[in-house]
Amino acid sequence: MKKLNLSLLIILVFISIIEFTSCKDLEVEHQHKFSEKWEMDEYYHWKKCSCGEIVFEATHSFGDWQIAKEPTEEAKGKQERKCTVCPYTVTEEIEKLAHTHKFSEVWTSDESGHWHVATCEHTEEVSDKIAHIFGDWTVTQEATEEVEGTRERSCSVCGYTVTEEIEKLAHTHKFSEVWTSDESGHWHVATCEHTEEVSDK
Ligand SMILES: [Zn+2]
Ligand SMILES: [Zn+2]
Ligand SMILES: [Zn+2]
Ligand SMILES: [Zn+2]
Ligand SMILES: [Zn+2]
Ligand SMILES: [Zn+2]
Repeated sequence: MKKLNLSLLIILVFISIIEFTSCKDLEVEHQHKFSEKWEMDEYYHWKKCSCGEIVFEATHSFGDWQIAKEPTEEAKGKQERKCTVCPYTVTEEIEKLAHTHKFSEVWTSDESGHWHVATCEHTEEVSDKIAHIFGDWTVTQEATEEVEGTRERSCSVCGYTVTEEIEKLAHTHKFSEVWTSDESGHWHVATCEHTEEVSDK
């Protein structure tokens, strides 16, 4: 009986040694495993083991803002910046652009000058209004003693053309090429309406 007790005790001690070692093994065996994926919130990113251990916890490290969608006068735009470590991205709206009048590329003109009219809804707006810049006169019809002539000049910017009358030429007497003569001498008689005029007498 006593021998049996001793054997039992030995067995019990063995069992407890085995249990102790295996228990110790279990504790050593857990190695933290952190997934490839970052976990994140608005402020921080981190990696977490299934045991609850957290590593690499830090605030996001943002890069520069990048325009994702340019704003226009009609629609808001979008900009975003990404954390350089984890995939966290902040997106913000960009306000619509302030209205800028749009103007026709074609000149509108009258005798006072030339300008561009607005093509946006603000039709009363004008741009680049300025007096014409005229080039030199060009005679389009020579004046004579009997008929007025015409000349014109154009704006070098918008092409607006002004036409002007040229006054009739001053009258110059015309004389016959044939000599007229009497005992006192010779002369040329006028062939214009001023028949009393003489030349070269
Ligand atoms: Zn762990
Ligand atoms: Zn981050
Ligand atoms: Zn406008
Ligand atoms: Zn002009
Ligand atoms: Zn005359
Ligand atoms: Zn003579």
